[in-house]
Amino acid sequence: MIVETLLVKIMARIRINKDRCKGCYLCIVNCPNSLIKIEDELNVKGVKPAVFSGGKSARLKSKSERSDGCTGCAMCALICPECIIEVYK
Ligand code: SF4
Ligand code: SF4
Repeated sequence: MIVETLLVKIMARIRINKDRCKGCYLCIVNCPNSLIKIEDELNVKGVKPAVFSGGKSARLKSKSERSDGCTGCAMCALICPECIIEVYK
């Protein structure tokens, strides 16, 4: 059980279709681990989209390791009105 929990924590991540994001930021508000942030650049809709930050240590790690803290709870995906967040475990 403990091992399974640890594996989920290590493996989980999300992908957001940035160009379809309308910038409501419901995903940001509802992530229990504060792993989603607002991107600096505008998308094709002219809004700053939500982007997965992968946790506080994301900048210190390689791209493939940016999954710290994401439990795969899917709260972000469930709350997104555009259904553009995919959760990978
Ligand atoms: S909930 Fe969906 S549409 Fe709203 S900011 Fe997040 S990804 Fe974008
Ligand atoms: S799956 Fe859960 S922990 Fe991971 S980014 Fe979405 S809301 Fe946050």
